[in-house]
Amino acid sequence: MNRQLLLCTDLDRTVLPNGPQSESQGARTLFAALAARPEVTLAYVTGRDRHLVEQAIANYSLPQPDYVISDVGTTIYAIDNDRWQHWHEWQQEIAPDWGGLNDADIRGLLLDIVDLQQQEPAKQNLYKSSYYVPLYADTEALAHEIRQRLEHSGVRANLVWSIDEPRATGLLDILPASASKEHAIRFLMQRNGFQLSDTVFAGDSGNDLPVLVSEIPAVLVANASAEVRDAALARAESGRAVDALYIAQGGFMDMNGNYTAGVLEGVVHYQPDVRSWLTDSAGEVPAND
Ligand SMILES: [Mg+2]
Repeated sequence: MNRQLLLCTDLDRTVLPNGPQSESQGARTLFAALAARPEVTLAYVTGRDRHLVEQAIANYSLPQPDYVISDVGTTIYAIDNDRWQHWHEWQQEIAPDWGGLNDADIRGLLLDIVDLQQQEPAKQNLYKSSYYVPLYADTEALAHEIRQRLEHSGVRANLVWSIDEPRATGLLDILPASASKEHAIRFLMQRNGFQLSDTVFAGDSGNDLPVLVSEIPAVLVANASAEVRDAALARAESGRAVDALYIAQGGFMDMNGNYTAGVLEGVVHYQPDVRSWLTDSAGEVPAND
């Protein structure tokens, strides 16, 4: 079997079993066995920053990845023997959108907007400005104001809004217009010579949707909410990318399809040959009659 696989996966509630649903026993061990195959290139794709990615890897005994796309797609690290190397080519790719400005400049432009409270310094980077936004804020008016100011300064930006439920606060990430999980994955594919047919993405939630419904082969893990599942299916259908979206069902190798079990189920859906790698590492010996 002469195959290579670029496995790109979200962390929280996709390979990290940190949602309310149960995790199948042994699923993460199988995932680590898959990642250890020489044919497999593993990339974590996450909103977390480097420090929080390292914490997740340690706390959940995850395999070391080859790449980390962090900070909502604004940073790519190549990891070689525990050495994290910042991929400056990626920054050069997205920087022109901000017309020579960086995070400090952007924050300066928006300093007096009362509903924007800057997040902690660790959550900012050269091409990511992050804010807390009160839940009562009129985000439409806010977006209009922000866009006007940025455009006036020659900045093409992508505004990513989300909600931190435990903290009961809105979040806003301001990124270069071309910085996204999908673009970063495509950059990784292109630089390493991976085709669509060599690549699988896995995710669970709203910020994974653009990749889930793209032409990149993708799997939605079974623990995703019904809302995300319906949105993914509807958008994949209207974009004619249905063949590149797989929804994990459970039942694969007697596992429940949640978290890494769903990731593995999806990988085998696209690359059936991979099943034998997993059964080998699970210690299943073919019947000898
Ligand atoms: Mg997630």
